[in-house]
Amino acid sequence: MTFAELGISPEILEAIEVLGFETPSPIQEQAIPPALAGADVVGLSHTGSGKTLAFTIPALEKIEPHTAQVQVLCLAPTRELAVQISREVDKLAMFMEGVNAVPIYGGTSFAPQLAALHRGVPFVAGTPGRVLDLMDQGELRTDSITMLILDEADEMLDMGFAEEIDRIVAALPTHRQTLFFSATMSPSIRSLVSRISTDPVEIAIERPVLTVPTCEQIVYEVLFSSRIEVLSRLIEMGRMKRGLVFANTKRVVDDIVDGLLSRGYAVDRLHGDMPQTLRERVMESYRKGNLNVLVATDVAARGLDIDDVDVVVNFELPREPEDYVHRIGRTARAGRKGRAVTLIGRRDFSLLARIERFIGTRLQREKVMTAQAVYQVRREALVDDILELATEMKGTKLPDELRDLELPQEQLLAAMFELLERRSRRDLQPIPEDRSEHLSERRTAPSVAGSDSLKDSVPLFINAGKLLHIRPKDVAGLLYKEGGAPKGSIGDIRIFLKHTIVDVSAEIAPSLAKNLSSCSLCGYEVNVRIDRNRQDATPENTASSSRSTSMMRPAFPQAPSSRRRGKSPLAPRSSSRRRSSSKNTSTPFYSSFKKRKKQP
Ligand code: AMP
Repeated sequence: MTFAELGISPEILEAIEVLGFETPSPIQEQAIPPALAGADVVGLSHTGSGKTLAFTIPALEKIEPHTAQVQVLCLAPTRELAVQISREVDKLAMFMEGVNAVPIYGGTSFAPQLAALHRGVPFVAGTPGRVLDLMDQGELRTDSITMLILDEADEMLDMGFAEEIDRIVAALPTHRQTLFFSATMSPSIRSLVSRISTDPVEIAIERPVLTVPTCEQIVYEVLFSSRIEVLSRLIEMGRMKRGLVFANTKRVVDDIVDGLLSRGYAVDRLHGDMPQTLRERVMESYRKGNLNVLVATDVAARGLDIDDVDVVVNFELPREPEDYVHRIGRTARAGRKGRAVTLIGRRDFSLLARIERFIGTRLQREKVMTAQAVYQVRREALVDDILELATEMKGTKLPDELRDLELPQEQLLAAMFELLERRSRRDLQPIPEDRSEHLSERRTAPSVAGSDSLKDSVPLFINAGKLLHIRPKDVAGLLYKEGGAPKGSIGDIRIFLKHTIVDVSAEIAPSLAKNLSSCSLCGYEVNVRIDRNRQDATPENTASSSRSTSMMRPAFPQAPSSRRRGKSPLAPRSSSRRRSSSKNTSTPFYSSFKKRKKQP
């Protein structure tokens, strides 16, 4: 079929030719004839199907040139789409004198939009909120509107525009034609269709299969500045053997490669400027499995024959939905399983929605693995390694220097473990997302001990934790017996490596902190204080600025402030005996773990 066979007038056919469209797409073939005949049309079709031309051609055919009033109103969910539709109309109307379009959208000054309306424009493409505003102000007259178009109606409903749409439609003449386009058909879309159209011709265009079900598709919302760290965690925790990371520009590709190299990963880059021989060498290395990760731009990756990629990471969202499909098509090939992880920022939501509509799948939103979680996994792995080695190393002797210390074995082991842990977590960097995850965990975490979560609680900090074998019941005992907390005033008790956080009723928190400012827990001298940092970092306080300093607190259990100043919080304050290395005159770090006196 040709465009001419669809019954389109010569001026528009000429424009179509100039624009280079040769044959109509399926949605154009099926929607244009009934629309030209004056019927209402409901088209189920996705972005990329050519739906814009499917409604702009009938709209232009309907417009009476040189009429000052608005004749076609097209509603679209976003400013970008409204602008895009207006541009298509202007191009298509290049040979139609006195016919043009204006985009109308919120978040910007009214003046230019008002000026265009005052000059007289037959086609308005706008977002529902601003269109309604201008209608209410009497600036957008509706009495000459003969055609209403809804583009991406499903997204408009998702964005909560149902009420605005109903109010706009109520103000339009009843004798009008309605063209309705949506990528999906839900009960709410069906109800909208029946409210605003009459006996519509329904057209559904089969969506090509764009992504495969064996590919798990995940989205993480992360600040741009956190992304190298998040990528490192993905490589490590996902045991990425052959990952492919995409970025939109060469500069970002270089930044990613530099960031990962400095963290010791086997990684290389691929971008358009590289000479062919170098590209081939990189590819060879990647195919052989010498690289964990290859970082590329879309252009450089085009035409690459890479199989066997276990994870594709979109370090940035691609600008076009088609690129998303190409990128993730590198994994989960030939029935194998694969993963596609996409990192997005706050500004990417509408682009993400476009991609989701294009592929017809909603991507799974997940929270970034926090430093705390990575640390926990590493810690468990470390314990496993130690246990494995310990069974293999039967009979191996300790160096004399350590044996001569006469420290309890457990204490020595704890110190060594701490040392190994410190080394293993040295490269982990806290990111703001660790903090927000931590907050949301706190809000939903089940009680470890104590009563149900308290309504009005305050976190107490105790400078002793798992390393000293503190258990929830020890903490509860301390607060109830020593501190005099009334029954039911204690909520969650979370014990970390070196500290414990307890939620207590706000009413009694100050007196508990006062009573227990210096006390004994499991034989250790400890102090209890209100944790002001955590208390201030309520979701309400932090939500407005994810870059606030309270969000930037290190993700690891921190030593209490006195320790950070160089003084051990657990060091004996009074007459405790000090043991120190016979060879070492300075206070060794393990003095932090000395017990004052075991309680009977
Ligand atoms: P749409 O689904 O309207 O967003 O269109 C997707 C893309 O397809 C746009 O870049 C259009 O310019 C292009 N397009 C629309 N109709 C045709 C056609 N008949 N032949 C080739 N390209 C087309």
